[in-house]
Amino acid sequence: MARIVMKFGGTSVADLDRIRNVARHVRREVAAGHEVAVIVSAMAGTTNQLVDWTRSISPLHDAREYDAVVSAGEQVTAGLLAIALQDIGVAARSWLGWQVPVKTDDAHGAARITGIDAEILRDRLGQGQVAVLAGFQGLGPDNRITTLGRGGSDTSAVAVAAALQAERCDIYTDVDGIYTTDPRIVPEARRLTRISFEEMLEMASLGAKVMQVRSVELAMIHGVRVFVRSSFAEPDDAQTGDGDLPPGTLICDEDEIVEKQIVTGIAYSKDEAKITLRRVPDKPGIAASVFGPLADSQINVDVIVQNVSADARHTDMTFTVPRADFEKAMEVIRDASEVIGYEELSGSADVVKVSVIGIGMRSHAGVAAQMFKALASKGINIQAITTSEIKISILIEAAYTELAVRTLHSLYELDRP
Ligand code: ASP
Ligand code: MG
Repeated sequence: MARIVMKFGGTSVADLDRIRNVARHVRREVAAGHEVAVIVSAMAGTTNQLVDWTRSISPLHDAREYDAVVSAGEQVTAGLLAIALQDIGVAARSWLGWQVPVKTDDAHGAARITGIDAEILRDRLGQGQVAVLAGFQGLGPDNRITTLGRGGSDTSAVAVAAALQAERCDIYTDVDGIYTTDPRIVPEARRLTRISFEEMLEMASLGAKVMQVRSVELAMIHGVRVFVRSSFAEPDDAQTGDGDLPPGTLICDEDEIVEKQIVTGIAYSKDEAKITLRRVPDKPGIAASVFGPLADSQINVDVIVQNVSADARHTDMTFTVPRADFEKAMEVIRDASEVIGYEELSGSADVVKVSVIGIGMRSHAGVAAQMFKALASKGINIQAITTSEIKISILIEAAYTELAVRTLHSLYELDRP
């Protein structure tokens, strides 16, 4: 017998039939003798609608009222799932964020969980009752409802799993796991049976959007094993995948991964834009004069490349920003032109970042060299490069995305045999 947390996203609870289907998934775990807490999202599309309404009624709405409105979708699904469970003979009770409570800070609209009082939940689970929690919401220090930012129910699930010291946090979604790359680009992509927290963080933040990045960070900090699986598989099928787990991907500590791949996956992100400053004075403080104003404007800078200067007086600098912030970033740099003192400013949103990720890279040389050679043989020009211990990212022209991802996927032998 184990204590497990099951989380169902918006597409998994999109209508009443799917909610009934979710109830059967829960019943299977209860029948296996487990104590179960369930976290639900709002029905697909609901939160978008609620957000739209707050914006339409007033663009400058109060963030506390935004939270009062957009948290409502999860209340509906929590109640409906509790009813569906009771209907098939499973004892269940719904819980809203404030009833647990899931305590958060006061950053309405993007609140952080500060603590969960899990005692009452533990108590009910011990009595054999399934706890169905509304994800995405909490209670702020001002005694008002808060929400955790879009996609936040993943974070709710991991936080509850940590508070309950659950054996596992199962994330049920519309895909059956984490793949070596986007299967829409490479049909030969394979489902990974295991991936480390660190690799998943790189995959998630680089555009493999299965889970909210913050939830993966939280899982890593608290050592919560997360299992990504499909809610569309038949609930009563006793399918087997890796060991005693059904098909899916386990996100876990790297100690749990026996065979460490050099390269685990290829991610890409189209959410990038590149900005280049030419002939910037090469002197102390220059990077601060460029990146300070961007930070002040809440713009995240990612890849940064600075040249050595040929004449010891000037240098060129290239960096990337989220595509949505491109225009704003260009404006910020233009406004700071006097202080920075560059000669030419240029930018392009026609770029994509492709990354090769794997914990095995720590102990293997030559991954980058192989990568650059393979891309060169396809005539793909690399505009910028950054690396970390477990990843190599390059910036290329967007038109080459598919070719680059496919080339790298087969180069590192990730294609399904
Ligand atoms: N319903 C919320 C959203 O759409 C939270 C979630 O689904 O994770 O962002
Ligand atoms: Mg989600």
